[in-house]
Amino acid sequence: MRARRPTRQIHVGSVAVGGDAPVSVQSMTTTKTADVDGTLAQIYALAGAGADIVRCTCNDEPAAEGLAQIVPRSPVPIIADIHFQHRLALAAMEAGVQGLRLNPGNIRKAEHIKTVAREAKDRGLPIRIGVNAGSLDPDIAEAHGGATPEALVASAERELGYFAEVGFDDVKISVKSSSVPTMIAAYRLLSETLDRPLHLGVTEAGPPPAGLVKSTAGIGALLAEGIGDTIRFSLTADPVEEARAGRQLLEALGLRERVGLDLIACPSCGRAEVDVIAIANEAQAALDDRELPLQVAVMGCVVNGPGEARGADLGIAAGRGKGHLFVKGKVVRVVPEAEMVDALVEEAERIVAEGIEARLAAADEGAEAEAEQAREELLQIQGTDANDDRAKIKRIREVAE
Ligand code: SF4
Repeated sequence: MRARRPTRQIHVGSVAVGGDAPVSVQSMTTTKTADVDGTLAQIYALAGAGADIVRCTCNDEPAAEGLAQIVPRSPVPIIADIHFQHRLALAAMEAGVQGLRLNPGNIRKAEHIKTVAREAKDRGLPIRIGVNAGSLDPDIAEAHGGATPEALVASAERELGYFAEVGFDDVKISVKSSSVPTMIAAYRLLSETLDRPLHLGVTEAGPPPAGLVKSTAGIGALLAEGIGDTIRFSLTADPVEEARAGRQLLEALGLRERVGLDLIACPSCGRAEVDVIAIANEAQAALDDRELPLQVAVMGCVVNGPGEARGADLGIAAGRGKGHLFVKGKVVRVVPEAEMVDALVEEAERIVAEGIEARLAAADEGAEAEAEQAREELLQIQGTDANDDRAKIKRIREVAE
């Protein structure tokens, strides 16, 4: 392993990328972004599998409106994936995303690119210049005789030039190709010429096992050379496999520590009924030395918590002075709020000893109904717009027009 090549550091929400930050794992949802609950459940599953950052497509106005509701409830920073329409980049920023990915191959008007960069600069948001060999700007491909490593780098440099004209430089770059030798050569070239953080990936790698092999070959070779600050496996598979594979590769290379217990927590939003950070820290401390191979979720409210974190083995959600303990999204027990962490620890140990199915079978009668009643009461108290989604959606409609 060579020492990591020094790069500038940027921040995607709470996650640092580049510089001395750990190499991060990214993945992308496959749901329709307008399907808020389905997308959030997948984001939680991805976070549980090791994703530090998740990208969601923002391909139309309903997707942008979905992002307005997803971002405040996501446990990890959200990047909006933008193709063709620069207005959707503006709409995604209104929705509150923590970063953008622009494809220079299909948003080509300099004025449009600069408008987006100016707005990102004003909001302090980073942009990934996401060059893709399959959708390279035709004039660059022609000048270089195809999607060569030099052509991919030239596309990134042209985009950087537009950004520089408006004083924007909060960027990371990817130069992906489905050809492993081409992507390796392109990233090597890029790392010799620029010091921006690099997002590594083999695009359209295909289904496992071939997709895993190609991605591991390309991304692994570069990481071993000290190149790369954040990675994504692009598999034709459940994206949870992408996140898991990315995490495992980093662990295998000694770039991230192995995790046993995996504790995830919601970010806490307008619906939170407890101090999520304090409870999550307490739970982490209580569970840390037990080495339980479980995904455990700490969620701020029972309105959305069990559903959002239904991919976790076990979780607890607060509501109306109670802790609602859930296993695989089903509420199995309701305890006083002060006993939330103790109940969580006890249930974690019982799941490891007895198995998930046995614990689901032993659910307290009436626990689901009690949770449902608490949900309804909270919806009546907090209303349906606890995160001011409607105001954001109004602005999205204005900028997306
Ligand atoms: Fe989701 Fe509730 Fe946490 Fe808000 S408080 S992020 S709605 S679980």
